[in-house]
Amino acid sequence: MAQLSDDCFAFGGPLMTIEDAHALFGERLVAVVGTEDVPVLEADGRILAEDCVAPIDVPPFPNSAVDGYAVRFADLRASDATVLPVGAVVAAGASSEGVSAAGSATRIFTGAPMPAEADTVFMQEDVHVLPDGRVSLPLGLKRGANSRDAGEDAAKGSSIVPAGRRLRPQDLALATAVGLRTLKVRRTLRVGVFSTGNELVEPGAPLRPGAIYDSNRILLLALLRRMGVAARDLGVIRDDPAALAARLSAAAAEHDVILTSGGVSTGDEDHVKTAVETVGRLVFWRLGIKPGRPVAMGMIDGKPFLGLPGNPVAVYVTLVFVVRPLLARLAGEAYAPPRGFTVRAAFSYRKRAGRREFVRASLAQDADGTWEARKFQRDGAGMLSSLTDTDGLVELEEDRIEVVPGDIVRFHPHEALW
Ligand code: AMP
Ligand code: MG
Repeated sequence: MAQLSDDCFAFGGPLMTIEDAHALFGERLVAVVGTEDVPVLEADGRILAEDCVAPIDVPPFPNSAVDGYAVRFADLRASDATVLPVGAVVAAGASSEGVSAAGSATRIFTGAPMPAEADTVFMQEDVHVLPDGRVSLPLGLKRGANSRDAGEDAAKGSSIVPAGRRLRPQDLALATAVGLRTLKVRRTLRVGVFSTGNELVEPGAPLRPGAIYDSNRILLLALLRRMGVAARDLGVIRDDPAALAARLSAAAAEHDVILTSGGVSTGDEDHVKTAVETVGRLVFWRLGIKPGRPVAMGMIDGKPFLGLPGNPVAVYVTLVFVVRPLLARLAGEAYAPPRGFTVRAAFSYRKRAGRREFVRASLAQDADGTWEARKFQRDGAGMLSSLTDTDGLVELEEDRIEVVPGDIVRFHPHEALW
């Protein structure tokens, strides 16, 4: 496993943008996980470690795209329908070897190999079968119509899926179509997840005065699982600098990344930053992002550490926009920020310049069918219901200071963020 030094980040300014943080990850971090060969189906959701190259052409042979009649284009009349006798019949799975297409139409079915000389296929719906069994082929087809070329889907020797791709079912299908049974993927990143806070108790335990159930850990563990990493539940750490330092340091020895939530603001009981500085070093502790401004990054024994804020919505936003690109870098995944799509805003909003804001919203169709984003009624970053009752997040750029109804805004469906 590649080892990173705690000094690989030589600087870290006070209020960086999300892109600054991504650039920093790109410059200073490398993939830390090795590779393994796994059966194609097991590669679903894993990161492809090297370009997948097609050992054969797909399709392997020219074949018909329709049920119909294959002919040589040269046998067709230029100014009228052509009448031809029907010769051989070729079905899918049969061979067309030895079949002559000269001066006749070959009855052919979808996926069946084209006879060597045939280049064009008439759909059966367009063909008139005469009482004597010959077929009348209408004018107007182009040479090559309804015929698929060998290698038109995947050419032998070409790269069909790029290294770094988080593999999707369609990638697995293409790899299988070229005959592969295993794929070389990255080993799974191990991420240790802590919650911090004296108020936190486990579900099932009685709720003593002042306590709340720890929901961030479940949120993080479930999101990380969907992101394809091995997330390990490391429990709760009390708001105590010594306990934090000890547990973070121990966790760094066994994981590729350490995540915490809570305790990174500037309150008297926020000790996470201090603890990180005791056992490692802090790289940054604020980003121009809302919710989530107090998000800390550090290095502990060569392992990246990310301290997320305590409020659940801030946890969500920083996990998908800050942690995910870092995990991608370490896991060898080619990361592209979520693109979302543009919709019309159906709300008014004011924000400060200089930070990227994410507003929870749902989509609805307006009177003429255009999709519009409707903002969740309340703003609190502590409200989990603002995540369960919405479709996604509206992204508002740093330089924007207000939104008025009708403005074009970028919308990210929740599911596209994982
Ligand atoms: P903090 O960043 O530690 O000041 O926490 C900010 C808010 O998030 C407080 O209301 C905390 O109680 C809450 N919070 C912190 N950690 C969790 C957690 N694991 N689950 C639910 N809420 C939390
Ligand atoms: Mg706290």
